[in-house]
Amino acid sequence: MRNLLLVLFFSPLYFYAQSTINCGNTEPIYGKKSYHTGSTGASLAIGDPYVFNIYFHNEQDVITLTENDYLKAVAYLNQVYNQFDIFFKYRGFVDFDITPLTDMLNIVVRETAGDGSALTPDFINISYTTFLTDLPIISHEVGHILGLLHTFQGSPREERAFINPITCEFDPAGTDREIGFFFLDEPDDDDLDAENVTRETTSPDYNALDAGDLVVDTPATYPTPNVCSDISSGVSYYIYSNEVVDETGTPYVDIDVRNIMSYNEYPYLDNLTLGQGVRMRETIANETILQDRLTTVESLYEPYSGIYRTCCWQPEANENPPRFQPGFDYEFVACSDSSILSLGRPLPWPYEDLTFNTGDVVYSFSSDYEVYEDIVHLNNTAIRIVQLEDTPRRCYSNLAKNANSGTIVKFNDGVFNANVTATAKDSLGINDPNLVNNLENGLFLIETNFDDGTQDQKVILKDNE
Ligand SMILES: [Zn+2]
Repeated sequence: MRNLLLVLFFSPLYFYAQSTINCGNTEPIYGKKSYHTGSTGASLAIGDPYVFNIYFHNEQDVITLTENDYLKAVAYLNQVYNQFDIFFKYRGFVDFDITPLTDMLNIVVRETAGDGSALTPDFINISYTTFLTDLPIISHEVGHILGLLHTFQGSPREERAFINPITCEFDPAGTDREIGFFFLDEPDDDDLDAENVTRETTSPDYNALDAGDLVVDTPATYPTPNVCSDISSGVSYYIYSNEVVDETGTPYVDIDVRNIMSYNEYPYLDNLTLGQGVRMRETIANETILQDRLTTVESLYEPYSGIYRTCCWQPEANENPPRFQPGFDYEFVACSDSSILSLGRPLPWPYEDLTFNTGDVVYSFSSDYEVYEDIVHLNNTAIRIVQLEDTPRRCYSNLAKNANSGTIVKFNDGVFNANVTATAKDSLGINDPNLVNNLENGLFLIETNFDDGTQDQKVILKDNE
């Protein structure tokens, strides 16, 4: 019998303080109109996986960042970008060493950096406060690096009065708003034209192919349009007014105020369009500065820390098991060596070798699972990354004895009699190196069950006085 480690799926609700993004990137950094001037074909938004190495440089000492903080950012990026077959492999962090690694995307956490700025793949700057509280801004800056422009590119705004005030049912100071934000119909210093609302390709006003963000399926907009948001429920939408018009006089019927590449007074930024996915993939396919930072799909099946136990007695492996980065839906399925020939095989099995036997899912984690320390590769399982493929890989089947469960029996009277309290332990619990250290004083029997069906019993008398 195997232990089933059941992992519940939680959907975290993200809350944001009222703020406006302050992004330092206002200029397109790649071939501007080169990519995705026309197609919104969904098929172009997916394809062979692109896997980026990602590395963090901590350049501030106001707060102490832990590895889990960096892993959280990588998990978030994967949650946002995996839909376009764009993946991120966590490669570690360094304190106070700004030297960029030219085979990585380099995220620099600074004491001040506005909120963020995306200069090159060597310097993707994020302020430490943004880093801890506003992960969507990291996805915004990475979007720039992958070739996305602001959805409002080339469209300045102004603040003035409405003739007929707009309303927002969530405004605490009253539902009528007499002042609002309008597209400003005058040339920007930007060299891109303002994008017009119309998507009628025969209209003389149609310019979505070569204006604004150059992506057709993101609606025309300007920075921080009028938004009605409820901070308690997360509802956030564009408030329509027929007075708010583009330079042709056409009202902005739809504005995607949740788009990651927009500015929003309440940055509930969680949307990217297929057209943006196409543009990013085309940018990666054409820019060597990005291709140089790609790694293999295989790397996602390798732990970011820890070691595999490959023999019978390696306590350091129990203390430091192979850990996998959060942000994917992992399923660890039962696997076993299929023949005696596998005895000489490296552990775990090579990525491309799929000749082992597999069975049911033994334990799993969702992409938003938050206890990162739990995401380990246990003996006799192979890894399935749901975002990548159905095929489980990297069977780890150490034929040496492996503790898979156990029981701690406490003798409540301090002598061997029937007055006992028994506590079951799963494989993580029974392999916990601090298992004995954490026992209270008293008399215990620890029973350990091994994969090969044998059992070990050990008596412990804890007396720390
Ligand atoms: Zn930006």
